[in-house]
This record gives sequence, structure tokens and C-alpha cells, in this order.
Amino acid sequence: MFDVSRLLQKHGVQAVFTNREGGAITDFSLLDEDKLAHNIQLLCHQTHISTPHQAIQVHKDEVLHCSGLGYIHQQEADILLATERGVALAVRTADCVPILLADEQAGVISAVHAGWKGTVAQAVLKAVQVMCAHGAHVEKIVASLGPCIGSCCFVVHADVAQKLDDACQQRVSFYRNGFCFADLALANQDQLLSAGVRPENIETLPHCTACHLDPSYYSFRRDKGDTGRQLSIVMLA
Ligand SMILES: [Zn+2]
Repeated sequence: MFDVSRLLQKHGVQAVFTNREGGAITDFSLLDEDKLAHNIQLLCHQTHISTPHQAIQVHKDEVLHCSGLGYIHQQEADILLATERGVALAVRTADCVPILLADEQAGVISAVHAGWKGTVAQAVLKAVQVMCAHGAHVEKIVASLGPCIGSCCFVVHADVAQKLDDACQQRVSFYRNGFCFADLALANQDQLLSAGVRPENIETLPHCTACHLDPSYYSFRRDKGDTGRQLSIVMLA
């Protein structure tokens, strides 16, 4: 039902990424708020994580600083920030990259939703900068990139590939069989390194949301938009 970030766990940070295994309680989309609240309650009970803060995700790079008990903010933000222990943050994804970040010693965490637009906007780079502005030290930040659409499946238009390449230090798109593919996880790793995060402090979960089975995932591309959402949550105890 969920994967735990081993890297963040090693650093004393709670971080989980849900998958599609486990029936009706795996969908965390905003479409049915009663069902969402029920599923979050079950997940939080299993993981011993507080009810997380969530926002309206719009594929941009606005930051929402959260405190206290979590709820769904009616505010647009793709970067959530917290500077208090016991405050949980969550993003919903189905192919986009969920990125969970923490500086355990400074007590600063962030959850980022980065699809191709958020990656072009360098949302994860901004998240690291905002964390540091709130007392985090970049060399202490650990980051986990959760399941997202892989470069095996993410076909993009050439102009999107160009924008992604321009947002990174290295090329993150390539051609195969006449189609252009992009590597969103690599792009976000690249931006984390540009922000000064240490390579050994970055973890990337391997599964492609579109083609991986056991566990399987919700995939916006594969299911042509008619799909659920994974939830990725981070918290400092
Ligand atoms: Zn794939």
C-alpha cells in the first residue's frame, strides 16, 4: 500500500509514498473529499503520521507555509513548507514527481509536486531555497523523489523537451524510435544538485507510475486522465 523512504527514515524523518495496491483505500484524489478524508485517516493510523496539510495543486511554484493540524487548504500551492515538528505535509500525484525534503536538525520540511511544468518552473530548487531561508542548511537537506512517470513512458513534444533541458544543467530529454522522451526524475535530481543538495542525500525511487506492476500506481497518461492519485507525506516526529 505504501513505500517508505529509507534515506529519510535513516535521517529520522517519516516519509511515505502510497501506491495502488490495497483496493478502494488507495485513491487520494480530491474528487470525493469524504472518501479522501477516510483514506487519509486510515493511512495516518497505519503510518503514525498526523493528518497532512494539502493545497490546490496548479503546476506552478507557489509556497504555502503550514502549521498545526493538517487540512486541505483552498489555496494554490505546489510547494508546502513546515517548520514545526509533528506537522505533516502531503502532495497528490499520478505521473508527476512527488519530492519530500527535510533537514531534521533544523526542523524544516517540504513537500513538492513537480510535473513537467513545475520542473520547468524549478519548483524543487525554489523549495530548497525557501527551506534554507527558514533555517535549513543545504548540506543537511535530504530529498526523496517518489514514484513518477519514467523516461520509459514519458513521451513529450519537442518544445516541452527543450524547456526541460533549459531548466537543467544537463540534457534530460532524448529521442527513441522517432519520439521524444523526457526524464522528470533526472531533471529534479539535477535541480537538487544545482541547489547544493549533496548527491548522497538524494534518493530516487525506481518505479514508473505508467508501466510498473506490483506494485502498480495511478497514471494520468496511461489512464488518459481518468485515474486516482498517490499521496506522498513527510513529517518530523
Ligand atoms: Zn514506464
